[in-house]
Amino acid sequence: MKRIALVTGANKGLGFETARQLGAKGITVLMASRSQEKGKAAVEKLKAEGLDVEQVQLEATNQADIQALKAYIDSNYGKLDILVNNAGIMHKDEPLGTNTAESISNETMDLTFDVNFFSVVHLTQALLPLLKKSEAGRIVNLSSILGSNTVQSDATSPYYTVKPFAYDASKAALNSFTVHLAASLQDTNVKVNSAHPGWVKTDLGTEGAPMEVVDGAKTSVSLSLSEETGFSGKFIHLGEEVAW
Ligand code: NDP
Repeated sequence: MKRIALVTGANKGLGFETARQLGAKGITVLMASRSQEKGKAAVEKLKAEGLDVEQVQLEATNQADIQALKAYIDSNYGKLDILVNNAGIMHKDEPLGTNTAESISNETMDLTFDVNFFSVVHLTQALLPLLKKSEAGRIVNLSSILGSNTVQSDATSPYYTVKPFAYDASKAALNSFTVHLAASLQDTNVKVNSAHPGWVKTDLGTEGAPMEVVDGAKTSVSLSLSEETGFSGKFIHLGEEVAW
């Protein structure tokens, strides 16, 4: 039976490339986007490459969208094999220097946590019954090395001075979700891991990033495949463990 994957934020950047690479493995990919128009354009591109992809609607912070998507996957497929929690934001309206633990605005903090953390918890909880119906369910949480407290507390690390606080804290919280969920699911077939994709050229990563999306998507794709990933509760970048 064909594997079914759901990738959130799949209309561009790492989500789009992850959908492409999973589709190229013969997996049916549900490409979630919050904009119907952008989502349709992205799906058409991958369909033109001969991939089995489908457009689904998801504003990640909207509970009704989450429930509707769950019902749709249940009635059409009856299971979910792969969930890639990819959608994310780094608030750029505030310059990096002002997005600190001392000065962050409530608005930026709330919005960043809504998208990068709460929505991931809500969507994952909603879809867990379907993931448990898979022979080998895989959940990938798109984290970042910026969410590593080990790295952030090391004054010799190159990341020590890069401190978009809301983003970093939301990814640290997401890592905590990975660890807790992996422990909860230890007696099941569902494995959950955090991915650091690398610093990748996307709208979020900016043009100055050194990695292309084709390489940036590799970590998420590998963690999505049961033939490559049998472990759970790890934080991984290109096959190597990242310190939490
Ligand atoms: P992009 O900005 O290119 O893409 C982000 C995606 O998330 C878009 O599809 C966007 O939709 C979607 N999205 C944002 N907010 C919501 C929302 N409320 N509901 C639904 N979808 C939403 O970013 P990347 O591809 O670079 O990032 C993907 C993931 O990888 C993120 O979680 C990011 O934190 C992580 N990451 C990226 C790194 C990098 O260097 N690029 C480094 C480390 C981690 P829309 O187009 O409508 O805005």
